[in-house]
Amino acid sequence: MSAYPVVETFHSLQGEGYWTGSSAFFVRLGGCDVGCPWCDTKHSWPQNLHPVQTAAELATQAQAARPAFVVITGGEPTLHDLRPLLAALRSAGLRSHLETSGAHPLQGDPDWVSLSPKPFREPLPAIYGQASELKVVIAKPEDLTWAEDQSRRVPAPIPRFLQPEWSRQDLWGEVFEYVQAHPPWRLSLQTHKWLGLR
Ligand code: SF4
Repeated sequence: MSAYPVVETFHSLQGEGYWTGSSAFFVRLGGCDVGCPWCDTKHSWPQNLHPVQTAAELATQAQAARPAFVVITGGEPTLHDLRPLLAALRSAGLRSHLETSGAHPLQGDPDWVSLSPKPFREPLPAIYGQASELKVVIAKPEDLTWAEDQSRRVPAPIPRFLQPEWSRQDLWGEVFEYVQAHPPWRLSLQTHKWLGLR
């Protein structure tokens, strides 16, 4: 497949994780079967409601924006064979960063894999070794225990982030204090939301 259901594309700054603050062109693909109750992109869940664009069209759009890298997000992008899109981006001289829950096999070799595992549909084992960073959303106190379990599965040197779920502002202090007490965790905030940006 060399065409994808596209929810939206836009040029912004990466708001989360290791590359926070960097110029990024976002490609949000349609389709997700993970079902996070607090998901802020539920409109992306259906696969068939979004217009289709080819890998070449997406690469042309991204190239025109001249970002530091392209973020392939969703939805859950690993529902799709990403090899044509990754190849098109690489041919256009663009780095590719994938955001995934790891719920499906990764087809392709992105330059960076942001693994954000979800307890509602746990990652497949292979993705842990492919992760460049681990980012765990904390929506309730018990998620901290689950985050530690996920941390034991990824390679030791990669950066690890705890990200308080946006609507649970009552938990932010607890996550802040947890990171203070538990290096090497780092705090990831959705800075684009603070700034009122996409
Ligand atoms: S994996 Fe992402 S897109 Fe899918 S339900 Fe969870 S937060 Fe939403």
